[in-house]
Amino acid sequence: MPRGCPSKIRICDQTWKVTYFKNLIEEKQLYGATIPDERLIIIDASKSLDVIQSTLTHEILHACASMSNHDVGNEAQEGMVRALENTLFSALRSNAPWWK
Ligand SMILES: [Zn+2]
Repeated sequence: MPRGCPSKIRICDQTWKVTYFKNLIEEKQLYGATIPDERLIIIDASKSLDVIQSTLTHEILHACASMSNHDVGNEAQEGMVRALENTLFSALRSNAPWWK
């Protein structure tokens, strides 16, 4: 697990497990994945910490979408998540002390 990265995240009062793999991109062409039924987020740990944190933000948005009861379909959800990922990541980083 990359230094400082969480192994668990609380989302909507539920605990999601976060696991890290070294070669997810090479083997599955993915930076990360979210498996809502298992409350599991998978992150490729072979990239820089910035990329790992951004990917985790991306996957958390998928997790939030899956728990929102607002099913827009996989393609629309991916578009929404990609649109929000960078702006949310920037907002979180710029206000980190406030979130603690
Ligand atoms: Zn995605």
